Amino acid sequence: TGGLVVVGASLAGLRAVEAARSAGFDGPITLIGAEEHLPYDRPPLSKAYLDVAEPPGVSFREEHHLRAELEVELRLGAPADQLDPAQRIVRVDGRTLPYDALVIATGAAARRLPGADGVAGVHTLRTLDDAIAVRAALDSGARTVVVGCGFIGSEVASGARKRGLPVTIVEAAPTPLVRAIGAEMGEAIAGLHHRAGTDLRCGVAVERIESERGHVRRVHLTDGTAIDADLVVAGIGADPATSWLRDSGLRIDNGIVCDATLSATRGVHAAGDVTRWHNPLFDEVMRIEHWTAAAEQGAAAARNALAPEAAKPYSTVPYFWSDWYEHRIQFVGTPGADEVRIVSGAADGDRFVALYRRGDRLTGVLTLNGQAVIMKYRGLLTRRASWADALDFAAARAKKPA
Ligand code: FAD
Repeated sequence: TGGLVVVGASLAGLRAVEAARSAGFDGPITLIGAEEHLPYDRPPLSKAYLDVAEPPGVSFREEHHLRAELEVELRLGAPADQLDPAQRIVRVDGRTLPYDALVIATGAAARRLPGADGVAGVHTLRTLDDAIAVRAALDSGARTVVVGCGFIGSEVASGARKRGLPVTIVEAAPTPLVRAIGAEMGEAIAGLHHRAGTDLRCGVAVERIESERGHVRRVHLTDGTAIDADLVVAGIGADPATSWLRDSGLRIDNGIVCDATLSATRGVHAAGDVTRWHNPLFDEVMRIEHWTAAAEQGAAAARNALAPEAAKPYSTVPYFWSDWYEHRIQFVGTPGADEVRIVSGAADGDRFVALYRRGDRLTGVLTLNGQAVIMKYRGLLTRRASWADALDFAAARAKKPA
C-alpha cells in the first residue's frame, strides 16, 4: 500500500509528518517537495536573514532526523504535477505514486511584478533562494524600492534601513494593510516607517521598471515620478499553489476548498496556506497565510487523514506577528470590525493594544510591542469573549504594574 503521502515539504507538510508519527502511524510516509531544500522556516527570511550579521540556519530538521527517526522517504527537487483522487495516485517526475491517505500542503507562491520578468535585481521574497538573492543585493548597498506595504515588504524595508540604506515603499492603496488590520490601524502602523526614515508613498503604483544592460535602474511611478533603484522587492501577495490540481476534480476557489475537518475529498486533506475551510469559531470561510495556522493545520490534517472515521473539525483564532525595525506587531482574530478601540498606549506611540469589536463580540486584537498580553487576548477570542468582558479584562490589566 502507499501509506501517507504529503505533497509540499515546508511547515505544514513537516507538521503533518510529525503528527502522523506521534499519533502512532507506523506505515510508510513519503514527503514530496518541489524545492531542493529540506523543509525550512520562512519568517526569518524577511527578518534575521536580511540583517548585517551572519544569516541564521533556517532548516527545521536535519536530513538524518527526517530519514532515520521519522522514517520519511524524501522526494525533493521535483513538484507533484497530477492527482487522481479516484485511483489514489499522485504523479511526480513522470512516475506515479499510490497513497492511502494524502495531505496537500503546497502553500502559496509570490505574485510577480508584471512586466519585470528576467530583469536582474527584481525579486519576490518567498523562498530561501529569494532571500539569498535579496540579502546579497543589500550586502552590496542596494538602493531599494519595495512594492507593496504589506508585512513582507515592510520587513524588507526594515532590513534595508537597519543597514542605513535608502528605501522607498510604493503602495497602490491609499492606506497600507487595510485587509490585514483595517484602515485605522494600518495608518497608525505606517507611522513606524516614517519614523524610521523609510519613504512610504501610498496611492501610487509602479508604471514601469527601467533597466540598463538587463539590470534594474529606475522605477517609474504613475504620478510621473521615478526612483533610482538597484534592488526592487515585490511584496504584493501570494496565490495558493493549486495549478497542479487542475485535472484533479478537487474544488479550487482561492485555495483548496475543504470541509471543517480539512478534507477536500475522500482520502485527501489539505493544510497551510493552500487551504480554504470553514472556521467554526468565527463562522467564516477562511484561507490563512500565517505560520501558526499552517503548523496547526498540518497536524490536524494528518490526524484526520489517518483516522477519517474519528475526524475532528479544525478551528482556530488566526494569529500572526511581524517585526518592523525594533518593533513587534501582533494580531489575533479577524480585522473586519464595527469599532476599533485603543485600550492601552497610543496609536503614535511605541506600544499600544487595540481591540476590534463586531456587534457585541470581541473579534480581533492588535498590539504593538505587546508580547506580554497578546496570547491572553487569543485566549479570550477562543472563548468567544463579549466586548464587555474584553473591556473589563483590559481595564484590569491597566491597573496592574507594568
Ligand atoms: P509554504 O511554506 O508555502 O510551503 C509550501 C511548499 O510546497 C513549498 O516549499 C513549495 O515549493 C512546495 N510545493 C508547491 N507546489 C508543489 C508541488 N506541486 N509539489 C511539491 N511541492 C510543492 N507568518 C507569520 O505568521 N509571521 C511572520 O512573521 C511570517 N513571516 C513570513 C516571511 C516570509 C518571507 C514568508 C514567505 C512568509 C512568512 N509568513 C509569516 C507566512 C508563513 O511562513 C507561511 O504561512 C507558512 O510558510 C505556510 O506554510 P505552508 O507549509 O502552508 O506553505
